[in-house]
Amino acid sequence: MFQKMLIGGKLVGKDRKKTRIKVINPADEKAFASVPKGTVKDINRAVAAAKKAFPAWAATSQKNRAAIVTKMADVLAENAEMLARLMSKEQGKPMAESMGEMAWAEGYLRHYATLKPKGRTIQNDAEFKIETRRVPLGVVAGICPWNFPVLVPFWKVGPALIAGNTIVIKPAPTTPLTILKIFELFNAFVPAGVINAVTDENDLGPVLTTHPDVAKVSFTGSCETGKKIMASASGTMKRVTLELGGNDAAIVLPDVDVKKTAAQIYGGAFLNAGQVCLAIKRVYAHKDIYDEMCAELAKLAKEAIVGDGLHQGTTIGPIQNKAQYNKVRAMVKTAGKDGKFLSGGVSKKKKGYFIKPIIVRDVKDGDEIVDKEQFGPILPVIKYSDVEKISKTANKTDFGLGASVWSSDTAKATKVALKMEAGTVWVNQSLNIGPHIPMAGFKSSGIGVEQSDEGLEEYTQIQVMNIAK
Ligand code: NAD
Repeated sequence: MFQKMLIGGKLVGKDRKKTRIKVINPADEKAFASVPKGTVKDINRAVAAAKKAFPAWAATSQKNRAAIVTKMADVLAENAEMLARLMSKEQGKPMAESMGEMAWAEGYLRHYATLKPKGRTIQNDAEFKIETRRVPLGVVAGICPWNFPVLVPFWKVGPALIAGNTIVIKPAPTTPLTILKIFELFNAFVPAGVINAVTDENDLGPVLTTHPDVAKVSFTGSCETGKKIMASASGTMKRVTLELGGNDAAIVLPDVDVKKTAAQIYGGAFLNAGQVCLAIKRVYAHKDIYDEMCAELAKLAKEAIVGDGLHQGTTIGPIQNKAQYNKVRAMVKTAGKDGKFLSGGVSKKKKGYFIKPIIVRDVKDGDEIVDKEQFGPILPVIKYSDVEKISKTANKTDFGLGASVWSSDTAKATKVALKMEAGTVWVNQSLNIGPHIPMAGFKSSGIGVEQSDEGLEEYTQIQVMNIAK
């Protein structure tokens, strides 16, 4: 299978050995498809096409823009199973999770189609009429990671288009296939140049973030890259939205129903083999329930079925790519010295980037597995004794994406939750996100907001109309 890029309404790229990027299935390490290796010229062409399409798209009525975004959702729904299969093959996640991601992407698009950038009237009297308008920015660059290869691009495409912008998407180098296939399907009804996609081998991001005709960069990925993007976008004063990494703490109070809470925490930590920005990445369990919580989590981890995402019954797929696999393996090794494993470990299978879910106990703040973002299926559980002080301990990090607090007393949990320095704080739940709920990060976890009306505003420029009557 060779899947072309979409630039200015045309499918672009030749299937030549030298200019091909192989798409690897992380479950067997075999290349099963390829996409073109985009060039600087391709980026320039895509930005030029988006720039050309912008005036007409910005002038299109809100109703028509919403109709096209709704049609995108319809096409995702009609092709969900075929696309989910492709996604499981290139990303590794279990088929049920791929189907879930397709449904999420569809639902987000349907919600964006109901949104509308809103201005407001500040003054309207005998002397002045003063109003704000929300005008589109122009060409948006959407730079995407590999953990949610379909959902994340649509977190950018949906609001960008609804606000009247055009967009160039750059998928992650290891997960370009499904999104290119979707763009090909969308090309049947989206005006040429409104959506474009260019693939790369991790080399073309800076071309987009410094391009004079790109007005905004919407980036989802690591903190490290986010910082580089912010620096490189400053030369041309681009707007940036950065959704970056997290090291989300789950704080468990002593009064919880341990079995029930362990099941919820397990689900929040190991979705997509832990490769989720808002996954639970460290658990602080009170000393009174520490042993029981560790044991329950380990029980669930031992029940996991680790394998190819396309095999029926698989609950945990492989790590998405070799670089991440090596990074997680190194962290597993260090964690094994710092604490005690109650389950899992690196799989002995000859092929595939598999790690069986690991629960590691007797680790503490300062240990690598607690302080760093693992982005893989290993969960540290830390013992604490003072509920009053635990938020302060958990906040001692540069990350601030999400957090959760667990207790049978909601008021008690909320008291702790209010002290957390994180963009989203959940009480007795995790990973409850939606297109109507703003998503933002404190500290190094990001700049700006995605989703909801607040997220939509970031795809617009405020303009004041101040009319003397
Ligand atoms: P990454 O930062 O390595 O890559 C993300 C994207 O940026 C890729 O498309 C890559 O090609 C591109 N890129 C790399 N260098 C660039 C540069 N100098 N300029 C412009 N673009 C560049 O991240 P990743 O490894 O693909 O994803 C994993 C990370 O993403 C994790 O840290 C995770 O927490 C984070 N993440 C965050 C969210 C969120 O919403 N906060 C969601 C998913 C993933």
